[in-house]
This record gives sequence, C-alpha cells and structure tokens, in this order.
Amino acid sequence: MSYNIPGVGEGVLGDDDDVLFMLSSMRELSISRIDVVIKREWVIVGGPPQLMTASWANLITDVGEVFEDGAKDFRKALCLYAIEMGFEFQYVKNKRVKVTAVCKDRDVKDCMWRIHASIEHANGFFYIRRYVKHHTCGCGFPTSSKKRLTFDIIAELMMSELRSKPEWVANDVVVHAKLHFCIDISYYVCWRTIQASKEHIFGDYTTSYSYLPSYFDELGRTNPKSAYHLDIDQATNRFRRCFFAVGACLMGFKSCRPVLSVDGTFLKEKHRGILLVTVGKDGQNGE
Ligand SMILES: [Zn+2]
Repeated sequence: MSYNIPGVGEGVLGDDDDVLFMLSSMRELSISRIDVVIKREWVIVGGPPQLMTASWANLITDVGEVFEDGAKDFRKALCLYAIEMGFEFQYVKNKRVKVTAVCKDRDVKDCMWRIHASIEHANGFFYIRRYVKHHTCGCGFPTSSKKRLTFDIIAELMMSELRSKPEWVANDVVVHAKLHFCIDISYYVCWRTIQASKEHIFGDYTTSYSYLPSYFDELGRTNPKSAYHLDIDQATNRFRRCFFAVGACLMGFKSCRPVLSVDGTFLKEKHRGILLVTVGKDGQNGE
C-alpha cells in the first residue's frame, strides 16, 4: 500500500508506524483526505504482466476438455478455477468415475452454473461432458474464501519451493502463499501442507520401514563386509529393531583406539523409538 502527498512525495504503508507518520503528515499539511493505492504482486509470464493465479481461469474451458490424471486432476482444476473466478461450488456427485458440481448459490439465487465430467474407460482420462458455464448468481470477483484450497492442492502448488527449502516451517508457507498467490491460508493448513509435501518428496514414515530390507541389501552390495540385522515380529510382521554397521567404518575402527562411545536419541516423529549410535576415535581424536 502506498500514498502520495503532492509536494512531499510518495510513502509506503508497511506497518502501524507508517500509518501514524502518514496521519501526522496530513495534520501538518492540513490535508483532510488522501488516496491509498493497493498493489497486488504481479509476475511477468511472457507478455503482459498478470497475477500468478490468473492462469487458473483457463483450467476449466469447455465440453471435451480432458484431464489425463482422472477425477483427482479434474477436481484440482475445478477448485483453482473457482477460486480465481470468485465462486463456490458443491459436489452433487463426487466419485472416481464421475463428478458433478453446481454453484453454491443454486438454491438461493437460482444460479444455473453446473459442470459434469466423467471417465472414459478406454483410456482412464476424465472428460467434461456437460457444462453450463454462465453464472446467474452475480459472482465474478476473486473470492476471499479459500475453502477449496486444501493442503494437498497447496502442497502441489509449492512443491518445487518445498523441495529446495526443506527447512521451511508453516509460517514460511503462509508468507509465500500471500506473496505469490495473494491468498490467505491458515497456519494449520500450512502445517498440513508441509507434512503432505515431505511425504510426497521423501515418502511417509510408515512406508519407509518397509524399505529397510532392500536398503540393507544395497548396503551389503555397495559396502562389502557391512553387518546388519533386521528383527521383525513374526506374529505381526512388524519392525521391532535393527542393527547395522557400514563395512568401511568397521575396517576404519581397526585403526582407532579400542574404545567405543555410545550415544542415543529419541525419535520424535510418528513412530517413536530410540536411535543408538556408536562412535570411535582415532589416534588424532578424529571421529
Ligand atoms: Zn453461481
């Protein structure tokens, strides 16, 4: 936000102090009214500047449009389209093979907007089959309601950022969404966004345990003389504990002092446990 006082110059409103300064300047100059300009962030995408969310308006076009990833792909496009176009919708049918949505104001304002898409069994793609695209409810401005902007959609939108910035916390996502998409999302949704992204990029904790046998196989192949043991509860087929020592470290220990230090830490994520690590020191106190 910025303002301009003729003869004085332009000022930016970034916080409360800026507002107080603007008001005191107005009093000094006996100005009773001032125009404040609000600018949204724009990005240049080859051609005239446009808001980053502007392309969402093209995600739903007409009958025949195809969504190659099926219903999930169509629902995501519909959510983003509705946000950019400024209306809310509700699902009449929401299944893997067909989705029908109507404008939320269908009953209140008799709005006729309606879309129906279904799967083509031959290729698994989703196609828009019927579409009444004009609203009669009077909507048409980007809405402040972001009910349809769920954490998994935001996670997809920000995947590249979250991939390169694993240290991001929820507040970073709040700021990024505000700066780049001009949208307000709650702290909780941002927190879920980060969890969903980490699962997508690194895999989820539960599935990771099932990779342990192949991880140890690979360890033995790439690091000969490695030692490992995986203890699984035979009754439930669940992980109980494991031990591994990398072959290169075992060979290196022969040149170390014959003392091992053991340190432990608690694992704090979904599956609790204890990680014990042994460390040896060589003659020059290197670990
Ligand atoms: Zn409508």
